[in-house]
Amino acid sequence: MSGHVADYIIVGQGIAGSMLALELVNLGLRVVVFDDSHRLSGACLAAAGVLNPVTGKRLVRSPLAREALPFAAQRYSDLESQLGAKFFHRRRILALTVSPEQGRELDERLEDSSYEGFLSGPNPPGFFSSRNFRDEFGSFFINRSAWVEPPVLMEALERHLESTGILRRQYFDVRALKGVLGGVDYCGLTARAAIFCGGFIDAQNPFFKWLNFRPAKGEILSLELLDGDFPDEIVHKTKWIMRSPGGGLRMGSTWDRIHLDSQPTEAARSELLGWLEKFFVNPKLVAGGVLCHTAAVRPCTATTRPFVGFHPLDDRIAIFNGFGSKGFALSPYFARMFAEHIALGRPLDPICDIRRTKCARVSFGSSKNVKSVL
Ligand SMILES: Cc1cc2nc3c(=O)[nH]c(=O)nc-3n(C[C@H](O)[C@H](O)[C@H](O)COP(=O)(O)OP(=O)(O)OC[C@H]3O[C@@H](n4cnc5c(N)ncnc54)[C@H](O)[C@@H]3O)c2cc1C
Repeated sequence: MSGHVADYIIVGQGIAGSMLALELVNLGLRVVVFDDSHRLSGACLAAAGVLNPVTGKRLVRSPLAREALPFAAQRYSDLESQLGAKFFHRRRILALTVSPEQGRELDERLEDSSYEGFLSGPNPPGFFSSRNFRDEFGSFFINRSAWVEPPVLMEALERHLESTGILRRQYFDVRALKGVLGGVDYCGLTARAAIFCGGFIDAQNPFFKWLNFRPAKGEILSLELLDGDFPDEIVHKTKWIMRSPGGGLRMGSTWDRIHLDSQPTEAARSELLGWLEKFFVNPKLVAGGVLCHTAAVRPCTATTRPFVGFHPLDDRIAIFNGFGSKGFALSPYFARMFAEHIALGRPLDPICDIRRTKCARVSFGSSKNVKSVL
């Protein structure tokens, strides 16, 4: 055991920082997590929380889907028992085909053995029109998908981390972080390293500005549900709409790479409400007034791959971030990988390892751990 007060400081208790903290603690390490009560970034609260193995118009199954999604599903299911809360649901996706081209892509995927079990269909055009869905190009199901309720999960994680003395509800001022021999010092709290899990805010982090973040704001509406017969599936047609546990509907989302703030906008609201026409033959029979409108910024990256690992020039600072639009789907898997890298020296997957990215120099105190001159 080191002479530090903590082994690792984690900055940010979003889904990424929370999952990493749990994994490090499970491996016997002492962790302190700082979070400003999601003031700087609330992506973890605004998210839909869908775990979708086949995405985009071209119905691409991410190579990670085979490992990362089942891992996440198992992890959330286990966490329900550990945290004493119910937030994980296995739910199929009912995808309304968006165009004849997508219908042809679907036919190809259904022939492809690597997609076996992930897709089923196609259902002919009009199959769901009696249930008011606009399925003019047909529809299909995406299987092995699931949904977590972000606010319930995040609250349960926060309660757990607080009750175990790990969480400090405080803003972490990166300018007060000092390099000391063999570690870092933050206002008297010493640790081997500080790991930044601040979501899109880390695009401005002085140590990691060289990483190519491409954040994107997204907005979500909660609507009154007028039709009690709405299916259990998550309904998808470029955007998505689903039942929420409170009895209403949730639908989203939008993409905006210019206005990186958490202010709900009129433009996104009308874009989403306009989309109801694409989902339903008669939207007025299904969706009533807007109950809630939220916005947040996704920590997307130019390569669409996460950023994981220690700084190439200084192993007293690290990052676990860049989960873009898939933080709930991917962060459990990468948290296990990173924790085992830290505690057991296991290698990181090159697809996420930031040491494979060219970096800028940092200026940061002295340490015998420094790998090259700062
Ligand atoms: C509209 C929308 C829909 C989405 N839908 C899905 C989905 O269906 N499925 C899915 O898997 N993902 C989805 N996502 C993406 C998901 O929300 C993100 O990938 C995920 O939240 C990123 O987690 P994070 O922990 O890295 O960052 P965040 O969730 O942003 O958390 C970072 C935390 O760090 C805190 N913080 C930052 N800096 C400091 C500091 N200096 N001091 C103290 N605290 C600090 C922030 O306040 C925040 O609490 C969606 C996102 C949006 C916006």
